[in-house]
Amino acid sequence: MKNVSKVKNCFGCGVCAVSCPKNIIDIRLNDDGFYQPFIDEPDKCIHCKVCVDNCAFLHKDLALENSVTGSWCGWSNDSAVLAQSASGGIGFEIARHLLHSGYKVCGVRYNAPERRAEHFIADTEDALAATMGSKYIQSYTVDGFSAINRKDSYLVVGTPCQIDSFRRYIRRLKIEDHFVLMDFFCHCVPSMHAWREYLRLAQKSAGAITSVVWRDKTPGWHDSWAMLVKGSEGTLKSRLSQGDLFYKFFLGDVCCGKACMKQCKYKWDKSSADIRIGDAWGDTYSRNDAGVSTIVSFTDKGREVVESLNGCTINPHPLEVAAEGQMHENVHRAAAYGMFMFLLRKGIQLPAAGWNAAFIVNKILRRLKIKL
Ligand SMILES: Cc1cc2nc3c(=O)[nH]c(=O)nc-3n(C[C@H](O)[C@H](O)[C@H](O)COP(=O)(O)OP(=O)(O)OC[C@H]3O[C@@H](n4cnc5c(N)ncnc54)[C@H](O)[C@@H]3O)c2cc1C
Ligand code: SF4
Ligand code: SF4
Repeated sequence: MKNVSKVKNCFGCGVCAVSCPKNIIDIRLNDDGFYQPFIDEPDKCIHCKVCVDNCAFLHKDLALENSVTGSWCGWSNDSAVLAQSASGGIGFEIARHLLHSGYKVCGVRYNAPERRAEHFIADTEDALAATMGSKYIQSYTVDGFSAINRKDSYLVVGTPCQIDSFRRYIRRLKIEDHFVLMDFFCHCVPSMHAWREYLRLAQKSAGAITSVVWRDKTPGWHDSWAMLVKGSEGTLKSRLSQGDLFYKFFLGDVCCGKACMKQCKYKWDKSSADIRIGDAWGDTYSRNDAGVSTIVSFTDKGREVVESLNGCTINPHPLEVAAEGQMHENVHRAAAYGMFMFLLRKGIQLPAAGWNAAFIVNKILRRLKIKL
């Protein structure tokens, strides 16, 4: 393969676009609503194969041959950080610690006018605040990754597939030593069409959307599949336990990426990162309702970062305890996946009741063991 022009339904990590010396690769949403590379002027390709070499989707093996060097559960002792983070706020504390040690952070914020999550560079604690909390949609990486200055040191946070390509990229440039890479246990990413349909419905009551929090912990961490959407005309609060539509799209697996179902090779302890974080959903912390993070290191560098954290409570546990409940297998296609993706691909707009009816169809098909 000379370049990534024939790659479809990939991880959408954007590393091919960032590394192309001729700058001819564009990352855009495909018909299903997932990021993918497009080469509009193939004649300009010089066939250097850099994009292909850096692409995790085109490699069977991971960039890092790893083994677990440490596993813990923990949380930030800063109550404001804990309240705003998805689980125990360890993601933010690792970033803050490295920022104070001279690193910059390439993390993800939500851009409300663009209706997307995006990587960006934070070099102050104020800027870093926007990375707090998970945004459960695929992030657009290109601007953030491109803004990395090869002479500086960075913590880069992303989905495991983004990080796997990114490690290939920095290794090729011989600057791997300047980086700490962090990923998370990753369920999947849902179609951006589903996200935009959710926003369309939210706008009816909230007006133009100005901010989104995916994990509002007000009802407690264990019930924090909870959206807090602020708009020009009001605030929408909605959680999975009350039938929130976004979480039904995301956790119902009705519109996850094809790559997440078929090509993901990053479940459980498979990672090219130095550190992996997640929600500590296991029995050990089932009574904690403020939030606990799982932390796993895969390199000595990752372990040293975790061991040097200040202002956190960190308890060592064997991996099976720390990561209890995390997925070992890829997401499975929901029974009515084809129907949902057809509706989303065609841009068919339904009222919330219409989408809820589609979920009932999904349930019936699942019981009948029929796949659409
Ligand atoms: C799409 C997605 C799927 C996930 N699936 C699981 C799962 O199956 N099991 C599990 O335990 N945890 C999962 N997580 C991680 C989980 O939501 C928390 O991030 C984790 O528990 C750490 O929480 P925290 O409080 O330490 O950090 P947080 O405050 O949540 O920090 C999250 C970090 O992730 C980065 N980030 C946020 N959104 C994105 C994004 N869309 N793409 C790339 N990077 C992002 C931010 O820059 C920040 O550094 C998922 C996260 C995402 C974004
Ligand atoms: S997986 Fe990433 S590097 Fe590979 S083709 Fe897709 S966007 Fe490009
Ligand atoms: S489930 Fe796998 S392929 Fe999908 S976004 Fe997460 S790491 Fe990438």
